[in-house]
Formats: sequence, structure tokens, C-alpha cells
Amino acid sequence: MALLKISEPGGKATQPAHHLAVGIDLGTTNSLVAASCGGGVKPLPDAEGRYLLPSVVQYRENQPPLVGAQAKFNTATDPANTIVSVKRLLGKSLSELTALGHFLPYQFDANRDDSSPAIVTVAGIKDPVRVSADILAELARRAEHCLKGKLEGAVITVPAYFDDAQRQQTKDAAALAGLNVLRLLNEPTAAAVAYGLDSQDQGNIIVFDLGGGTFDVSLLSLQKGVFEVLATGGDTNLGGDDFDRLLADWIRSQANSGNELDAAATIRLLHLANDAKHRLSDAATIDLTYQQWSGEINNEQFAELCDDLIKKTINTCRRVLRDAAMTVADIDNIILVGGATRMPVIREAVTRFFEKQPLTELDPDKIVAIGAGIQADVLIGNKSAENFLLLDVNPLSLGIETMGELVEKIIPRNTTIPVAKAQEFTTFKDGQTIMSLHVVQGERELVKDCRSLARFELRGIPPMVAGAAKIRVRFQVDADGLLGVSAEELSTGKMAEIQVKPSYGLNADAIEQMLQSSQDHAHADMEARALKEAQLEATQLIDAMNSARKIDGELLTEAESERIMDAVSQLQNEIASGNSNQIHALTERLNRVSGDFAARRMDLHIGKALRGESIEAVEKSAD
Ligand code: AMP
Repeated sequence: MALLKISEPGGKATQPAHHLAVGIDLGTTNSLVAASCGGGVKPLPDAEGRYLLPSVVQYRENQPPLVGAQAKFNTATDPANTIVSVKRLLGKSLSELTALGHFLPYQFDANRDDSSPAIVTVAGIKDPVRVSADILAELARRAEHCLKGKLEGAVITVPAYFDDAQRQQTKDAAALAGLNVLRLLNEPTAAAVAYGLDSQDQGNIIVFDLGGGTFDVSLLSLQKGVFEVLATGGDTNLGGDDFDRLLADWIRSQANSGNELDAAATIRLLHLANDAKHRLSDAATIDLTYQQWSGEINNEQFAELCDDLIKKTINTCRRVLRDAAMTVADIDNIILVGGATRMPVIREAVTRFFEKQPLTELDPDKIVAIGAGIQADVLIGNKSAENFLLLDVNPLSLGIETMGELVEKIIPRNTTIPVAKAQEFTTFKDGQTIMSLHVVQGERELVKDCRSLARFELRGIPPMVAGAAKIRVRFQVDADGLLGVSAEELSTGKMAEIQVKPSYGLNADAIEQMLQSSQDHAHADMEARALKEAQLEATQLIDAMNSARKIDGELLTEAESERIMDAVSQLQNEIASGNSNQIHALTERLNRVSGDFAARRMDLHIGKALRGESIEAVEKSAD
């Protein structure tokens, strides 16, 4: 897959003024803003010199919300009004969140429709877009204060596996915060940009990003400063927070604390577990005290406790390698991103699997924001020479339903985006004036096994015989991963299009499941496809035979007619049988018994045509 070079509209060749643009890493636990200042892209600190802004918002009565460290401090005392890990809520409905089983100490307004979780706070109803907007606005204020000017644009990072709904809500939040979004950039992509600038590595790189709530693995190929994303994988519901939860459960079990905990006590216990996890990054064994209990835990015990989570991350690495048809021997470097990669248990597991020490030169918390800042600088037009962008890939194939409920893949999975691809389709029935288009996503061969994204219709196709109309269907995935589909009838230019914004999309687990099931069912799917195609071919032949008998029935003797009728009815009966070999055999048989009839029809029609032409020719020569 070749990397395309694209020029962005903002990237004019000569831009005299320096434009203010930032890169924002909108994280589950912490967020960060970086910008080009003083000869390089750097994270910007707050008034107290802190870089990480805890992604926590506390809503208060008749006062503006508190965002960051102070809000985080208040989570234990005011859990219902203090929103943490809001990134996990983006693009999801309340019922989806409930199904995921997250512990959420908030009150939701159940009278709202299920489109977006409505959190009831003392400052009114807040949805995840509003909460994210408040975090972004705080970062924008910090940047404008540091840079002493008005921001003109921002690049905001999202996990590679964010679906359309999650990306869209991130963009909505930025708009609500008054930011001009230059681009949403996948987090591992931003990390690669940051390392590419600093260390000019060559070869194949794994970006292993374990944040507070999300996990992404990307395989990038880097050649002479140009990156190509070869494969991605991940899980939007796996992160450092999950390690906290396991450790909290373990502490409770050690303390024999059987009582139900209220929201505030749960948060206090999670803080204790989080602190213990951090201390385990600096010491092999640590002391712990909870209620009446005192004890210790070492990194081996911690690794055992979190074995399932660690295995999950390594299995994802394995699948990413398989997707790119590589082995660990092909990997030259591993970049660790996200605060949770500071855990020795993760570093050891990664080192063991890849048989190599990962790169840890850059601060794993700051890499993504720095990469986004570099991209922002390019997109706003501050860089004149190299306005080339690293591109991302779409995680699942996108296609359209065709006759027989089969999927025609138009943009295969792992295609570099932005991308536009068109394919021509035709009508199935004589005189057909409407074509229904069903856009689907997934790796399976049958529509019922894929995910339905959208349906729309192209109307006003001029009536023609089946197969004569030419409908060009165009799929376009923009740089933010959003899909647009159009259909155009080529003779009239009649057009219909749709922007695909599914209300709630796939999370990484669902993507993983879809990929797994496509592998598990590969053989069955091929058979199902073969059957559908055989059924379609048989139906078309029977239709053609019936209409030929209507037009030229006099060319058949009674015995021939009976033989053909018999072959038609046998084939007709077999179509529903589900045996594609038998359908093929009977289709062949109908072709054989009607062979002479077809030849006679051809003679007759050619003869007619020739007679017509010779008469015309005679008339012409007589003139
Ligand atoms: P991020 O979303 O990248 O800000 O990741 C934050 C996650 O990294 C949280 O789960 C933190 O507890 C975790 N984290 C940060 N520092 C450390 C550390 N020194 N050791 C272990 N985990 C850490």
C-alpha cells in the first residue's frame, strides 16, 4: 500500500505570518496541549507549570465548571457532579454504556431519548460532548495565554479505533469549545510523527499505546522520514484504569472488606489502587494500608493479577503483525505511548513478545500532543516545504449490498485514508427506475453478517433493459475517517448521496469480533457466496429461457419444448435446495438441452438482420 502525498489547503508555499495552531491530546485520564514556540513543538504548561490537565470536570451551582487538578481532587467528595473518563462515554448511548458494565457514579436523566447519556448535575444536564468541550476550552485558554494570541486552528487526536460517532462527537465538542478543527489525527499516528521528527528512524515500528481507558497498537513502516501505516488494532475499553480496578478488588479481598461501598468510598479505593500502581513502577515491592489491613504487593503478584489484561494487549500485537503479514523479527522499533506503559509489567511483556527493548526516550504522556502540534503547524501553513501528511487506515472493509444479499467490498480494510473509490453497477430488472443502495461494513461475504451503515435510493434512472444502465457508486472516506457515498446514473447525471454518520458505532471489541468471525467463517462464507451466485445464475437463465420461449416458441418441436420445460422445472426445484454443485449441474443441463434452440434463434435473428442490411444496401446502390 503506497503512501500518498497530499497537500492541505492551509499549506500555502509562502506564509509570512506565524499562525497560532495547537495539537491537543484529548485523553481519557489526562489531556495535553502542544504548540510550535521557540523553535520546536512543545507541550504548554498551566500557570503552575503543570503539563497534564486531568480530564475531569466538576459542575457547580451558579459558577463556571472546574476543570483539571482541582476537579480531580473533588471527585471523592462530589462524585455525582464531577465527571471523569468522559472519553469513554463519547459516541455511546446510555444502554450501550450500561451493557459495557462501567461503574458510573452519575445520575442520568432517563426521560431523555437514548441518543446521548444526559448526566444530571447541579449545573443542569450535561452530555459527553459538553463535558469534552469544557476540557478543550480549558486547554484552548491555556494555549492562548501561553502563546499570547487567538488560536486559529487545532489538531485533535483520537484513538485509531474511534468510530464515526465518536469522531463526530469529538469534532462537535471542539466546535462547542470554539475551536477550528484542522484535522482529527489518530493517536499512534501522532506519536510516530513526534518520533520521526526527533530520531529519524528507519524500518518497521510498532506504536503500543496504553492510556487510561484506551489501547491502540499500530504498525508503521518508516522510510527516509516517510511513514506508512500498515495495520492497526486495539480496544477502546482497555487501559490503565482497568489495572486500578483489579488492584482495588485485590486490596478489598485482602482486607476482607465485604461491605458494599458507596460512590465516594469506591473512588477513594480507586485512588489508593491508582497510587499503588504508580508506586509499583518505581519499586519492586510496595507497602499498602486499607482500613484495618496492612500488607504488601510486588510486581510479580501484580503481573499475575493482571495476566488477562496483559495477554489481551499482546494478542492484539500478534493480530496486527498477522494483518501486515509480518513477524516480530520484522519489527525494528517499539514506541511506548500513554502513561500506563510506565508499568514494568507491561514493559516486560512487550519486551518478551517483541524480543526487543521498546523506545522510551520521549515522555509517553507527551508524545501524542507533540505529534499533533507538529501536524497543526503544517496544516495552518507555518511550514512551507513539507506539507505532507501521514495518513491513516480504515479498520474494516466498506462495501455495498448486491443481488443475492452479497457484499461487494469497495474500500478494503486497512486502505490508507483519505481515499475515494468508485465502481460501476447496473440494474437487474428491465425498466428498473429506482436503485436501492445499502452501505455495509465488515469482512464477511453475506450482508446479514456485516454491519449495516446506511441505506439510500437513487431515483429517476431512465427505463432500460436489465444490465444497460450504468450506475457509478463512489465511496469516499475523508481524513477524519468519515464516510460519504454517492450514486450517479451516468447517462443522465442523476445523483443521490449520503453522509454516513451512524448514531452509535462499533467499539474495538466489536471490530475484533467481526475480524475474528470473518476468519472463523471464511470457508462457510465462500460456500454461501458460491451458493448465492449459483442461485442467481440459475434464476437469470430460467427468466431468459421463459422469455425466449414466448418470443420464438415456434422454433421448437413439441419434444424439444418438453425437454426444456422439464430441465427448467428441475432447476427451479433445485434452486432452494442449498446445493450449489447440484444447481450448477442442472444449470449446465438446461444450457445443454436448449443449445440447439439458442443456435436456431441466433440464425433466425442474424438472418433477419442480414436481410434488412442487404435490402438497404440494394436500395442504396439503386439510388
Ligand atoms: P493517559 O490516558 O495516557 O493519560 O494515561 C493515564 C494512565 O496511565 C492512568 O491509568 C495512569 O494511572 C497511568 N500512569 C501514569 N503514570 C503511571 C506510572 N508511573 N505507573 C503506572 N501507570 C501510570
